[in-house]
Amino acid sequence: MEPEKLWRSVLGELELVVSPTYYNTFFPSTKINKIEEERIEIHCSNNFSKEILQQKYSKDIKSLIKERTGKNFDITFTTTSNKVAVAEPVVFSGDAPLFSPSNSSTVKEEDLQQARHTSTNYQTLEPQTQGLVPEYNFSNFIIGPNNRLAYTVAKTVAENPGQSYNPYLVHSGVGLGKTHLLHAIGNEIAKNHPEYKIIYCTGQEFLNDLMDALQNTRTNGGTAREFKNRFTSADVWLIDDVQVIAGREATQEEFYFAFNHLYLNKKQIVISSDRHPSEIKKLHERISSRFNMGMVSDIQKPDVDVRTAILRNKRDDLGVEISNETLDYIADNINSNIRELEGAFTQVVTYAKAMNIPADINAAKQALNDALITKEEKNIKPAKVVREVAQFYNLEIREIKGSRRTKQIVVPRQVTMFLLKEINQLPLVQIGALLGNRDHTTIMYGIEKINSELKNDNFKLKKEISIIKETIMDK
Ligand code: ADP
Ligand code: MG
Repeated sequence: MEPEKLWRSVLGELELVVSPTYYNTFFPSTKINKIEEERIEIHCSNNFSKEILQQKYSKDIKSLIKERTGKNFDITFTTTSNKVAVAEPVVFSGDAPLFSPSNSSTVKEEDLQQARHTSTNYQTLEPQTQGLVPEYNFSNFIIGPNNRLAYTVAKTVAENPGQSYNPYLVHSGVGLGKTHLLHAIGNEIAKNHPEYKIIYCTGQEFLNDLMDALQNTRTNGGTAREFKNRFTSADVWLIDDVQVIAGREATQEEFYFAFNHLYLNKKQIVISSDRHPSEIKKLHERISSRFNMGMVSDIQKPDVDVRTAILRNKRDDLGVEISNETLDYIADNINSNIRELEGAFTQVVTYAKAMNIPADINAAKQALNDALITKEEKNIKPAKVVREVAQFYNLEIREIKGSRRTKQIVVPRQVTMFLLKEINQLPLVQIGALLGNRDHTTIMYGIEKINSELKNDNFKLKKEISIIKETIMDK
């Protein structure tokens, strides 16, 4: 076989297995330099491409060549150029750079680090319903004004997967039922269509697995292909907390690939995120616009009636002895989110049991007073507030404290003033000192500005402030 033809055929196969990022970065300008008796020499355009091919893909290349020639060639790699990293070199801790991105698509070191520490194991889960928890279903999902739309859409999706709302994205703050709803959809579909392959995974798991696959391709040539197939062969794909993939180039690219594949094949896709897709910073526009093509709904915080209903349902489910009055007390006092509400319930029950007293309103008061006090005493530092605001708006802390007056900075700066007042209850003078020695009247003006925006129903700002507050309180 002619070297050129042989290599083209090998590349054709590799393209299917290798992630697009890697393929476009390392493979396009490679060719077979010479074919000898026992050895094939492959030419790479630069050192990095050479290193990557050598370390990660030489086994694949060897076997693909064997498939085509019937011969077990030794494969060697050469390069004439000593070109090193051109832009944004990604350096492995202390070692020589491994990856030289030739375009903006880079695999981040932090992604790889994370992948080394955590890895999911789809293989150990049931083949048809990967990752679904049966306890999260529609029958124990309490419906209220805060989640009615999200629930209705979820139910419709579960009844007609791929035919009604596709994709379906549900978003909310933490602990308000997104994960529960995703599992409920999966469980319902699994019941009606046992033959369907349903995959539930979190954005973080998707990211970790991709990094794993990229890393392991060297030792196990098939992993990248397996990774691709795993998602593209799904009938239903439930992806939780998708916001995690934002800012990760390679991950977003693979996600987009799998998403499009399933979408075009009319497979149901359900996504959750901690905020509206258009508010996810560093999420590719082409991905967020895809999300907006389907149905987007949110879940709000539950009112006291929903909270009470959830607690009663939980009590009946678990068969615990605890009076309605006690449950009302818990529901009245814990209004942050459902996860905390459930936590408080468990706390009261456990406390009563440990103290060997009935789980009545007294026990609840004692158990929860502790919980409520620790929450208040959490003692949030002003520096943390500044940091979280800066991070949310993608700004440097020095920009918040600095003197530039562009709108992109002024609003976050005023939000910082507002939150330092509200959360830390700092005096205006102190806030001024903290934010680049500003006069207290400037601070007063800033806080008033935010207050009036909120009063005038600046919905976007309201939402932003509530997300920032939640991250500050949760961490
Ligand atoms: P999120 O994914 O939005 O952070 P989860 O789905 O993990 O929230 O919900 C947190 C907890 O609250 C879970 O135990 C879940 O079962 C429970 N929960 C949330 N919403 C409801 C609801 N409407 N009815 C009953 N339980 C709920
Ligand atoms: Mg969740």
